Amino acid sequence: MTVQNNKVVTISYRLEDADGELLDSSEENGNLPYIHGTEFLAPGIEESLAGKSVGDRVDTVVPAAKAFGEYDQELLFAVARDQINIDNDDLQVGLEFEAEIHGELRYCRVEDVSGGEVKINANHPLAGMDIHFQAQVLEIRDATPEELDHGHVHDEHGHHHDH
Ligand code: ZN
Repeated sequence: MTVQNNKVVTISYRLEDADGELLDSSEENGNLPYIHGTEFLAPGIEESLAGKSVGDRVDTVVPAAKAFGEYDQELLFAVARDQINIDNDDLQVGLEFEAEIHGELRYCRVEDVSGGEVKINANHPLAGMDIHFQAQVLEIRDATPEELDHGHVHDEHGHHHDH
């Protein structure tokens, strides 16, 4: 069996930026199961895994455009404080939330709060970075119909999440 669309693939992985600084790894966060072809992972990362078998390793540099996107200045913008539905106590620099922007659910971060305005950065934290991706394929199996319907992996205990 090889990595292809609608397979549940489990990988160990390591992500570094272009300077070799560690960004994320399975050593920190555990091995990662995902459904191949659902755009759960960045496109360049999925491409590098396609066709691989259990035990195969990947070691590649994924350019920003195929990793977490180019940095987009238009995704750095200010909105009026009263347009944001977040309590004063919670609204502070560094707060992260998800919001729909131009019809797309995006990860957002508060960059600044002042003068009745909130500056928001909706770029992915890794936008604009070439990513050094290393991984090993640990397991490949068919996704269940339920997993395909939901678009995410269920663990061996069955349906085990709250959405
Ligand atoms: Zn589910």
